[in-house]
Amino acid sequence: MPLLGAHMSIEGGIFNAPLRGKEAGCDVIQIFTKNNNQWKSKALSDKEITAFKENLDKTGIKAVASHDAYLINLASPNKDVYKKSLTAFYDEMNRAEELGLPYLVFHPGAHLGEGEDIGIKRIADSINLLQSKKAKTNLTLLLEATAGQGTNLGYRFEQLADIINLIEQKEKIGACIDTCHIFAAGYDISTKDGYTKTFEEFDKIIGLKRLKLFHLNDSKKGLASRVDRHEHIGKGMLGLNAFKMLLNDKRFQNIPMILETPKEKDMKEDKKNLKILRSLIGR
Ligand code: ZN
Ligand code: MN
Ligand code: MN
Repeated sequence: MPLLGAHMSIEGGIFNAPLRGKEAGCDVIQIFTKNNNQWKSKALSDKEITAFKENLDKTGIKAVASHDAYLINLASPNKDVYKKSLTAFYDEMNRAEELGLPYLVFHPGAHLGEGEDIGIKRIADSINLLQSKKAKTNLTLLLEATAGQGTNLGYRFEQLADIINLIEQKEKIGACIDTCHIFAAGYDISTKDGYTKTFEEFDKIIGLKRLKLFHLNDSKKGLASRVDRHEHIGKGMLGLNAFKMLLNDKRFQNIPMILETPKEKDMKEDKKNLKILRSLIGR
């Protein structure tokens, strides 16, 4: 059975996330380990970390991933932003480690007009620098495939592969496929042929063994629109068929799948989306 879940809010304290996940019916969750729109944030206290781990135990939820803050751009040509990004990303790595999370998902970066090759090199250099400060770690960094909005890199599997090829600690780097992003980037996983071809390409270019996480989102915008707008499962341009193929794909039964769809505090949307996804299993 696939491991299904959703991104959970940490409002009121990071230890609340597993409780929310349980309430929404998640097997797995993704979290931000700090406010995702700020550069800095208070360190996690021992008390918070212990409470988080206790709540994971209590609920049986497997916390699989942290997602990095949106301000971070490891490809930024702006010296000030770049410096802040490195510091903030290192903090993200530390937080994920403190919480015992296996994965930190991040958007590769935006080159902001400097060019794709320079951007790719800068991202890889950043990761090498950051990982070199951590000789011993259980944390794997996951490059998220993007929709390619603006100058964001990572909208072709080749770009993710180029970055991975430059990374020194290869056993600590992986990839995350966001269904909305790759569809918006031009990979048509809504049809059987397109689905087959997409994963053949992924395997050839990156290698399925690097694929550690899925973000399950339908897409408000069309194929190859290069616009990143998440939609509820089955309500967008991707449609249910894509999710049916994914959930029943034998290759992906042990890869956690996380919703990042719009929601209110009561999480009724998550509950509904999870119900729809689970109804597709075995069909
Ligand atoms: Zn993301
Ligand atoms: Mn995503
Ligand atoms: Mn997105």
